[in-house]
Order: sequence, then structure tokens, then C-alpha cells
Amino acid sequence: MTHDLPYLDPTRPVAERVADLLARMSPAEKVGQMMQLDAGGDLADHILATHVGSILHTSPDGLREAHDLTARTRLRIPLLVGEDCIHGHSFFRGATIFPTQLGMAATWSPDLVERVARVTAVEVSTTGVHWTFSPVLCIARDLRWGRVDETFGEDPFLIGEYASAMVRGYQSEGLSDPTAILATAKHFAGYSETQGGRDASEADISRRKLRAWFLPPFERVAREGCRTFMLGYQTIDGVPITVNDWLLDDVLRGEWGYTGMLVTDWDNVGRMVWEQQVQPDHAHAAAAAVRAGNNMVMTTPQFFQGALDAIDQGLLAESDLDPAVARILTLKFELGLFEDPRRPDVERQRAVIGHPTHTALNLEVTRRSLVLLRNDGVLPFAGGLTADGTGRARGGAATARTVAVVGPLADDAQTQLGDWAGSSGQAPWLADGQPRELITTVLDGLRAVTPPEWTVTYARGADILTLDTDPEGAFFPDGQPRPQVVVPCPPDQAMIAEAVAAAEAADYVVAVVGDRIELVGEGKSTATLDLVGGQIALLDALAATGTPLVVVLLASKPLVLPDSALTAAALLWVANPGMQGGRAVAELLLGLVEPSGRLPISFARHVGQQPTYYNQIRGQHGTRYADLTQSPAFAFGEGLSYTTVEYTDLRIDSAELGPAETVRAEVTVHNTGSRPVRETVQVYVSDTVTSASWAEKELKGFRQVDLAPGERSTVRIEIPVADCTVVDGRGRRVVEPGDFDLLVGPSSRDAALLRAPFTVTPGAVTPAP
Ligand code: BGC
Repeated sequence: MTHDLPYLDPTRPVAERVADLLARMSPAEKVGQMMQLDAGGDLADHILATHVGSILHTSPDGLREAHDLTARTRLRIPLLVGEDCIHGHSFFRGATIFPTQLGMAATWSPDLVERVARVTAVEVSTTGVHWTFSPVLCIARDLRWGRVDETFGEDPFLIGEYASAMVRGYQSEGLSDPTAILATAKHFAGYSETQGGRDASEADISRRKLRAWFLPPFERVAREGCRTFMLGYQTIDGVPITVNDWLLDDVLRGEWGYTGMLVTDWDNVGRMVWEQQVQPDHAHAAAAAVRAGNNMVMTTPQFFQGALDAIDQGLLAESDLDPAVARILTLKFELGLFEDPRRPDVERQRAVIGHPTHTALNLEVTRRSLVLLRNDGVLPFAGGLTADGTGRARGGAATARTVAVVGPLADDAQTQLGDWAGSSGQAPWLADGQPRELITTVLDGLRAVTPPEWTVTYARGADILTLDTDPEGAFFPDGQPRPQVVVPCPPDQAMIAEAVAAAEAADYVVAVVGDRIELVGEGKSTATLDLVGGQIALLDALAATGTPLVVVLLASKPLVLPDSALTAAALLWVANPGMQGGRAVAELLLGLVEPSGRLPISFARHVGQQPTYYNQIRGQHGTRYADLTQSPAFAFGEGLSYTTVEYTDLRIDSAELGPAETVRAEVTVHNTGSRPVRETVQVYVSDTVTSASWAEKELKGFRQVDLAPGERSTVRIEIPVADCTVVDGRGRRVVEPGDFDLLVGPSSRDAALLRAPFTVTPGAVTPAP
């Protein structure tokens, strides 16, 4: 086959094709190539007039239209199609929707998360989408922030493990794999370090703090080949990330040698003009963004004229656009889009979307994401099914029981899916959400898995919220609609009475409470962490009935719980669990599966305790507030099983080590109860004296072990001394010789950890420059 134009010839090297194409492009085509616009707008205008290089939030119909329009463009440069497929392809009808990232993080299984990302990519790649804006590597430290659900929690090591796994799963063996999609490490960097939890506010964060905790997960995936990075909205030290030379040039591209594509977040370039007010107009903003090395500019329509004006005004040379355009084109050539634009493939969709093996993986992840926080012995329900499904009670014949299922979230299918899914607001083509029959609520799950002679009753018991117009008006001064505000529903005595009656007539009451999408997501940070609306009154009334109360907290993020929940017979946290949530919860309550989730983030007792993350810097007066402990309600790493596990005999092979050696140790874990367990053995390191103040302890590794009742196992631990670092006062990550402690146990709580000292002797450690 012959090709008239060199850039269309797949036998030529990519660099040659890029150079040829670049030379044919007009300034307007180059500017357009750097733009990603919302496909909800005028697609024909985006593609034919603005020459966009990429689109996002595209309905299935829009995707077909977009490809047809691209075929009519002068150079027929294929589109790169991006989407937020962040816990499954949740904006595609019928696709497999997994738990949110925070839920997945509670599994403590990077392997499962890699498989989730692989399945997601297999489904996404049939739909014409090439690029997912996932994973989120932000560290969740202020629980008021609206996007805690999108993170892997509060620990940088755990985040790095998951991020690496997820990127591998999405990108597969490489971009020539037709089931691979581009991953995005976001939001680079420090976006979660808000003021008061307010979304996208200035991050008050030093370079040392960035290097110590916020950058390491990003560095890992940058070095491992994550193909794109998304830049956070916020400013640091007054400088928007979009134009932050230190982060983008010195660190990301300089120190880490990153060569992937940088995409801004939504209208970052425009925000410098209208929100942060650090640029006088769009021409200056466009010039600054290009000079700082941004490649793809997300949803700033004014960038088109702004960049062209910048060239006219001498703020930019046309050639300044070339590196960004070349990077985008290179990616498109590497994906093979010029030969095969990877359009939606209906046949493959039928074959893979929602495939039973994907549903099975989803159920497995969801089961393992559930974190049991309290159990006075009520769980698993007596008389429930045994693990072999025979329906026999523990030690006897099946006993008919009545379970009252109550609460506003017991049967709320769409809320269960969480943000960035179905009807959560970003995909107008799915306004009614995902098909109801694909989602199992807790009510559905209990009806399905309780033995036939059991009775399951239901009462809603409370409402959560309604929405009202913002008191400041329905529109911002610039005419944009202002989001509505949340109005908590007052307790409804008739609803509560109905739920109480159901509880009194039952052997167990399962109350499903939590938050709703209106309290979750971008621009939806919360001032409190309380259960909203009539939920606390409902729990208090249920607790007073004396019927064993199981609280299922179906909440996007850790909430502050009332005593009636903290002292309930059992308490289970279920981050938005996706389509299989209700089934997994019911199986756990009945004892068909063992609880094994562990907290990737701490729960506060009171909103005023913020922050409650476990690895805070040492040094403050005292350890508590005058009126409250500082101890969280539930700490990082915690989670119960249906059995008890004892840790003994922590032994370090050699307690004196050089900097290039590895701490080798072992610990004995013993299942002392009568149920099997998947135990997460957590390994922390504490550096006794550091040259600059540092965290008291940091997670450095973990292992999951399966133990039968009565089984004992010796778990080997290996932590390279090179990982026992601090970031010193000059911002260098170094191992500082001296005394350390190895801490091993079931959670980050000091009381739960065994401790063994070791010493690092001075040696030839070369600090990173
Ligand atoms: C969010 C990003 C997201 C992008 C595209 C932004 O508002 O901050 O996380 O990927 O929108 O939807």
C-alpha cells in the first residue's frame, strides 16, 4: 500500500511522521490540537472550527458523530477520547461498576485493584474511549474535602502500591494492545491539602512536605511509565500548578525524567484569569500555560483565540506550540489511531461489557472492601447460612429469623454507585442512572441470600436531604448556574415509628445510613461530618428498642458517628460499593464470607479533630484537646474479622544493618478463634531520632495471610533499609543512620503493634541530588 503523505505511512518512524504532520499544520490547527473540549457542546464546531485534538464526556451517539466529523477535517488527525472511567466505565450503560477508589483501597490488595483496572480497560476500549482520568493519587487528610472517596486514603506508601497496580492494569503490556487505555496520574500535586476542606483552595504546603509525602506516589508512576499526568486546580505559594515551573520542570520532567503528556484540569487556564486572577486575560494565560509545558488544555474554549492572540501580540512564537503538539501526535501515532481510530465496536461491547467474569471480580472486590468496625458477637447472624451454603445454623438446624432492614440507603441503588457513575451528574445521557436490575441494594441482597424460611421486612425510617436555591441567588455574577445547597430533612416521627415497629418485631435490625451524592464530590466539601437529616434520630430510636442493631454505614468517606452507632451491636463501613454492594453486605452479615477489609483512612470522633491521619509529624504540647481526645474513632489499618488473631514472637534476623541491606524479620500470627481469616499483617517503621521532625511511624509493607481456625503461621518480612528514609531539612530523601523500630501488627494503633529495635550503621549512602 502506498501513502501519498509521509505522516500517513505506518512504516515510517513515529518521529518522522510527527515532524511531517507538524510542518503541514496551521497555527490554528496546532492550537486546536492542544485542546480538549466537552463533547456536550457543539461537536461540529469543536472539530471543524476549533480543530480540537481531544474530547471528553461524550455520549455513545456523540462518539460516532465525532469520528464522522473528524473524517471531514483537512488533515484527518484522529481524536483522542478521554473519560473519567475511575471505578469502571461508569458512564456507559450496563458497564461493570466497582467500588470507589476508597472502597477498593480497603481491600489492601493491589493485585485485585490491578485486575479491576484491567477489566475496566477491556470494557472501556470497546466504547471508543482511549484515555481514563484515573487513578487519583491525592492523599486524603481533611475528611471535610468532597473528594475523599476518589482517593486511596491517607497513606503515601499504600497509595503508591495501588496507583502502580492501577496504571499497569489500564495500560496493559503497552499501547499497541487494543485493550490498553491511557492512564492519568492526578491531580499533580498537593490538591487535597485544602484549607478547611474547601475544594481547590490554595494548598499551604512546603516543598519539603511535598517531597516527604505528596510526591512519592507520583514519582513512582512517573518512573513506571504512566502515560499522562493531570495538573491540580490549586495554587501553591501563590503559583497555580498549571504554571508551576518548580513542580513541572525541575521535579517532574527534570529529576524524574518524565516524558509523558500533561493535561490541565478543567479550565485551569481560564481559572488563572477569572478565579485566581493571576493573569489579566486569556492571551496571557494561554502564553503562560504553553511556556510552562502544558500539552493538553482541558475545557478552556477561550484558549483557542487566546493562544492565537498571544502569537499576534508576540507573547508566544508559533514554534512554542510545537513541543506540546508533537507530544500529543506522538501519543496518537503510538496508539495507532491514524491506522485505526479505535471507534466504538458494538460487537466487542456485546461480548465484554458487564461480562459475568467481570461481575464475579466485582463481587470479590466488594466483599473484600467491607470493613467491620464493631461486633459484639451478633455477626454473623445466628441461624444464618454456613459457608457451604447449606442453611444450617451454627451447630444446629436452620432457625427462622426476622431481619428488619431500615434506613434511607437500604434500597437506594444509584446512591450506592457513588460519584462519577450513572446519574452522579457528569453524564447527561445517563440522567436516570444505571439499569436498576444490575444493582443489588442491601435490601435486595438480604432478600436474596437469607434462607427461605427467614422474613425480611423493610421501612425507610428517615430522609436525608432536599436541595434549595443558594441564598446568594441561583446564578453567579457571570451568569453560570450556582449549585443548589443542601437542606437536611428533619426527623419524621411517623417514619421513625414505622421503623421502630419493624425493629421490635424482628430478631435483628440492619440500619443502612450514610451520605448521598449531593454531599460528595467536587465543590461539595462538607463543614460537618455528621449523618445528615433524620438519620441520627432514627438510629437513636432503633438503639432504644433493644433489638440487636447492625449499622451499615454506606458512606463515601469516614463520617462522625453518634453513640447509637458507635455502641451498636455491630458497625460495618461500606464505601460506595458499586453494583454488587448489597449482595456482598448480605453475605457478610450472614457469614457466607469473612470480613477482611482494613481502613485505608482514619475515622474522626468529631469534625474538630481534623486532621486525624496516623502519620502526623511528632511534636506538640500534650496529646489531647482540653475537651476531647485526639485519638480517632477508628484508626488507619483497623478492621475486625469474625475470629481473633494473635501476633507473637517478632524477631529480627540481624539488628545491625548497613544502608544497603534489608531488614529481615518474622512474626507469628495465630488464628485463635473458630472462623477462618484473611489477616493483613502491617509493617511500620519508626526512626528514633531524625535531623528534621518526622512522622512517628510510617507504613513500609504489608502481607495478607489466610489462616484456618487454630492455624498458626510465620510471616516473613523484608524491608530494604533504603526505604527507611526521611526528607531532611534541605529536602533530600535520605536514610539517617541510628536507631529504628520495626512495628508489626494488625493496625497503626501503637497498642496493637509488636516492636523490635534495629540499628542502621553509617555507610556509603548517596542522597538523591
Ligand atoms: C476533575 C477531574 C476530572 C475532570 C474531567 C475535573 O473537574 O477535577 O478529576 O478528571 O474534571 O471530568
